[in-house]
Amino acid sequence: MSKKITSIRGMNDILPEQTGLWQWLEDRVRGVLTSYGYQEIRMPVVEQTDLFKRSIGEVTDIVEKEMYTFEDRNGDSLTLRPEGTASCVRACEQHGLLYNQTQRLWYTGPMFRHERPQAGRYRQFHQIGVEVFGIGGPDIDAEVILLTARLWKALGLADKVTLELNSLGDSEDRARYRDALVDYLKTHFDRLDEDSQKRLERSPLRVLDSKDPGTREVLQDAPQLAEYLNADAREHFDGLKALLDANGIAYKVNPYLVRGLDYYGKTVFEWTTDALGAQGTVCAGGRYDGLVEQLGGKPTPGVGFAMGVERLILLIEQEKPELSAPVDVYVMAMGDVLAPTMALAEQLRDALPGRGIQLHCGGGSFKSQMKKADRSGAAVALIMGEDELASGVVTVKPLRGQAEQKQVAQGDVTNALISFLE
Ligand code: ATP
Ligand code: MG
Repeated sequence: MSKKITSIRGMNDILPEQTGLWQWLEDRVRGVLTSYGYQEIRMPVVEQTDLFKRSIGEVTDIVEKEMYTFEDRNGDSLTLRPEGTASCVRACEQHGLLYNQTQRLWYTGPMFRHERPQAGRYRQFHQIGVEVFGIGGPDIDAEVILLTARLWKALGLADKVTLELNSLGDSEDRARYRDALVDYLKTHFDRLDEDSQKRLERSPLRVLDSKDPGTREVLQDAPQLAEYLNADAREHFDGLKALLDANGIAYKVNPYLVRGLDYYGKTVFEWTTDALGAQGTVCAGGRYDGLVEQLGGKPTPGVGFAMGVERLILLIEQEKPELSAPVDVYVMAMGDVLAPTMALAEQLRDALPGRGIQLHCGGGSFKSQMKKADRSGAAVALIMGEDELASGVVTVKPLRGQAEQKQVAQGDVTNALISFLE
């Protein structure tokens, strides 16, 4: 026997028993995004490698070691997208959506990073992302954060997540701060963990992110980015905080919050949970006013975030939400009545849009059909037999609760069903 082919490590099937929850989440998220007037955009999952190198940054974990990069048959270097922002900017710039207008956009789909797979961290994972272009003030930063807060409510997660904020200033602020930070960290080099020692040369701000207790101790007396912000960035950050305060959004300013992607400036934020162990960040984002220009467009402010769908699903599963069964009505034909029963099922689909009307196929005894009806999760079975057909009725058999089975005229079936499908 030949060896079985399995899925690739870290790239998971989402099975029918899980897709109901995914759809539940996606529906709710779509509802919230629509209520803020955001429009969906869909981008390809493969892009030119340079797009990610130029946006995310050459010296980032993603570009240095996580991207799925390959040569296609033409010899071009292509990459499976590790995130959506770069593609979204590319698409908007390419199709003229950026200038003299604003865009409020969202997207969803798979992203790819070659990381060590573990709970909440995969090689193919899904993000729902939001990007807003053309608005430079803190009003829109506040809006996207309010939007995320509303999402947590819609998903029943409001008690499980908390918001952290920081401001990274502009690139000059960060350059001055970087020098000060490096000078300071060098004087404590031996007390830093190995990763941080390596990062010190190439991307020192990432040291702020270190979880190592020794490094964290050193960081306590390190210079703070907040002291290096220019007046504009400071005012922007104050403006954002005031809007969040006025709208009752709780947050913690975390001076060590930096993101692993180079394009962020000014506002950065993360929503985290302590219910998922080490993979606690469920949503992360910020402002990237320099990115459009960096990718060859005219200067255009931008702000956005991405949520990790798998992590949200893990959180929601802990709450055990009740989802509706995929089948509402199970239709059975007993005897030589398949054609009219099939026609009846078709009529019901017209009359009850959005309901799952499943026709039993494959024959079998009454008992075995009833077993399948039960297992389908349907609230009610409809049974058509030769006698029923002859007298223009159908048997309605409730599968849950106490109600008795009864025969109803075929013309009244829809009404009879509605009473079972509240
Ligand atoms: P982390 O610090 O957890 O590696 P990140 O900073 O690399 O996250 P972003 O690039 O900001 O993450 O992506 C936004 C969100 O996407 C994360 O907050 C997380 O919820 C999710 N995410 C990122 N990488 C993965 C992954 N490999 N598997 C599952 N979800 C992920
Ligand atoms: Mg990461």
